[in-house]
Amino acid sequence: MDRTLFDADHDAFRQAFRQFVEREIKPHQARWREQGQVDRELWRKAGAQGFLCPWLDEKWGGAGADFLCSVVIMEELAHAYESGFAMGLHSDIVVPYIHTFGTDEQRARWLPGCASGELVTALAMTEPGTGSDVAAIATTAIKDGDHYVLNGAKTFISNGQLCDLVVVAAKTDPKVEDAHRGISMFVVEAHREGFSRGKRLHKMGMASQDTSELFFEDCRIPAANLLGAEGGGFRMMMEKLQQERLSVAVGAQAMSEQVLADTIAYTKERKAFGRPISSFQNTQFKLVECLAKVEVGRAYVDKVLAEHVAGKYLVKECSIAKFWITDTCQEVVDACLQFFGGYGYMLEYPVTRAFMDARVQRIFAGTNEIMKVIVAKQLGL
Ligand SMILES: Cc1cc2nc3c(=O)[nH]c(=O)nc-3n(C[C@H](O)[C@H](O)[C@H](O)COP(=O)(O)OP(=O)(O)OC[C@H]3O[C@@H](n4cnc5c(N)ncnc54)[C@H](O)[C@@H]3O)c2cc1C
Repeated sequence: MDRTLFDADHDAFRQAFRQFVEREIKPHQARWREQGQVDRELWRKAGAQGFLCPWLDEKWGGAGADFLCSVVIMEELAHAYESGFAMGLHSDIVVPYIHTFGTDEQRARWLPGCASGELVTALAMTEPGTGSDVAAIATTAIKDGDHYVLNGAKTFISNGQLCDLVVVAAKTDPKVEDAHRGISMFVVEAHREGFSRGKRLHKMGMASQDTSELFFEDCRIPAANLLGAEGGGFRMMMEKLQQERLSVAVGAQAMSEQVLADTIAYTKERKAFGRPISSFQNTQFKLVECLAKVEVGRAYVDKVLAEHVAGKYLVKECSIAKFWITDTCQEVVDACLQFFGGYGYMLEYPVTRAFMDARVQRIFAGTNEIMKVIVAKQLGL
């Protein structure tokens, strides 16, 4: 099916980013997986070429393009099986908090560095004791004169080792009856005393992503680092989660498409019993079933993207896209892996890594169960 989302500028942007992937990403992926994170320099290289926060106004150091350029980047990273370089998290999930809720002074302070790659960002909501139930976070930020003092621990934080700025959710009013109203958002610079990084976590997949624990121990930050109004943090997170969920769906959809294309090619080459395995009816039926899922998914994701870019606030649709596309991605990748036989269990094969990378998509950015809770609420159930 032809896609109608993109114009000639997006196509040119895709070509430019593909060249970046060939030159700056593909030759280094195996080494990054070994070292557990991408090179810090990669962020600066991406920034120098206008690939970070491409939607950001030129006034703040961006390219003045749109979110669809970010979509192009997420798709191309998935096509390259690159799951550690969290450009989408930085450009389209964390930086929008500063852009939307920051003052002009805060924007001027941080956004140009976010676009250039001088400042890598992370978003710290999840804690050892709570993930889905954000209102139950225990990290506190208590006002002390013109400072706040942060105490608490966060875990599973993407970009945890490389980040220079962390957007942190913390309780400014731990005793308030409605816990949702007690949460505020802060920007914490990694050089602040009392901020420390825990270990880089060993994961099933996403081997080159520096997912980590973060700690705040009497970490004093100026009140000027509070984002938006005190107590407004929960509302901010709920607003920004739509694009986060849609971004996960975009990556999962592109992953399904790439794995399916590579599997179709492999089954035409691999022979068993003197015939290409693509000639077996089982192979054909399974691949056609995968194709049907991928094409239906593509139509839905592109429709939601078009409406999202047009400015619609799509809680139900972003939640459905997140759970259905990621569930489907895992089904597709699992079915495809089977055609690789024993090679599909070897880490050097991209399909094997895709299988391991795909699993977390059903967990992070709100679990798929939480997505259904949200949709059920939208239905008034
Ligand atoms: C690789 C990775 C990267 C991550 N990156 C980040 C990051 O950058 N920043 C960040 O803040 N977090 C991040 N996370 C955390 C992630 O968002 C959480 O793990 C996720 O939201 C689930 O929270 P939890 O792990 O505490 O599970 P829990 O909330 O304990 O949930 C456990 C199980 O209970 C189910 N459950 C919970 N509540 C309900 C309910 N009401 N109805 C039905 N079922 C329910 C869940 O669906 C799940 O199956 C990351 C996680 C991973 C694995």
